[in-house]
Amino acid sequence: MSSGIASREALRTLMILLGATAVALGLSPGGGLAADATVPRPPLDRQARACRDPALAVPPVPFRSTGRATYDPAIAALVAAVDAERYETALTDLVNGFATRYTTAASFSAVTDYVRQELLEAGIADVALHPFEIAGSTYHNVIATLPGTVDDGRFMVLGGHYDSTSENPDVSAPGANDNGSGTAALLALATLLRDAHLDHTVVLAAFAGEEQGLYGSEEYVADLVAAGKSGSLIGAVILDMLSFDRGGPPSILLETSGTFTNVIQDMGELAQLYTSLEVDTSTSPFGSDHMPFLDRSLPAILFIELDWDSYPAYHSTTDTLDRQTMATGVEITRLGAAAAALWAGARLNGAPTGTATATATPTSTPTATSTATATPTCACTPVTTPSATPTATATATATATVTPGPAAPVSSLTPLSLLALAALGARRRLRQRRHHPVNPARE
Ligand SMILES: [Zn+2]
Repeated sequence: MSSGIASREALRTLMILLGATAVALGLSPGGGLAADATVPRPPLDRQARACRDPALAVPPVPFRSTGRATYDPAIAALVAAVDAERYETALTDLVNGFATRYTTAASFSAVTDYVRQELLEAGIADVALHPFEIAGSTYHNVIATLPGTVDDGRFMVLGGHYDSTSENPDVSAPGANDNGSGTAALLALATLLRDAHLDHTVVLAAFAGEEQGLYGSEEYVADLVAAGKSGSLIGAVILDMLSFDRGGPPSILLETSGTFTNVIQDMGELAQLYTSLEVDTSTSPFGSDHMPFLDRSLPAILFIELDWDSYPAYHSTTDTLDRQTMATGVEITRLGAAAAALWAGARLNGAPTGTATATATPTSTPTATSTATATPTCACTPVTTPSATPTATATATATATVTPGPAAPVSSLTPLSLLALAALGARRRLRQRRHHPVNPARE
């Protein structure tokens, strides 16, 4: 951990630089999928894309706390109430109950019915099926709404896809990690949040069609915008691949665009205050249900296990329960509970605590020119043992003109990004397995 930090102003400038770098690299906004569902989309393979796209080879950066966040007993109470047994039961039932959860498989409607029924049995009255189409056939997201106690229309989304895929998806796609784990987290959070009486509405969104190309979440966000509701969105937390790790303490990658580095900062502070998660961060978003939000400059963040790109059973018929570390999935679920407490406003015994206010607003409007080089050196096959000396370097220079975004509400969590530590040349942990060869062939 380096403490060689320059002035706050320098850090802010570099924070802008990183956002601008992402833009310069063509990552965001607009780097995602077209909204027109009639245009055939290629299957979405996050791992393959990470290997092929040089821009995504920029390694994640360890999170640094500002030390300014204060402990809030209302958040702690909600986090402590996450039921690990409920998470494990839900994940087990999802995997054992269905041979495949591939959206276009003949049996998929039974999976949709199961998710809907579980949310109803969690005690949520408002559970709706949200339709979308793939190649002329209709499938459904499952959308559960927990109304807030303050009737101001503001809401947050806790989302993740409940479909799965494999090499033989019509027959077998257990999807324990991808994304039984995120679905189990949603079901555990449904039970938890039912009685939480948060200020603002929480929408639990189980998306389908993710593996074919984010069809379900794309339709959901498009409909939000069309209905004029996107302006009331506090933020979206997307849970995708939570329960694989290669040993060591439970860990997480927080991923969003350079526009929302304050969201990364808030979630990183929550992780350090209320969970045992080791945190890395990335402002190169791709390949999951956070993209339809980010593509429209709506605040969203992906929670994903830190070791996702080492998972040997990715999109395989061997993505099974025995490969999962339940404790890691539960710990990331706890962070989901903390996020709901922060953004939707948790109160302790009905009284406002005065410290849990969301800051899911754009950090800045990057208007800079920048150059960035990364020299990744590794194979893209899953690596099960760490290689020796990492050799990647990342350098960047820029002249940034800062245009501050909207003023953030008062918060105990001060938005300040230290993502620029890599550009500062600070010593940091580099994992060779995260650096992919530059390949001009893009999907
Ligand atoms: Zn997934």
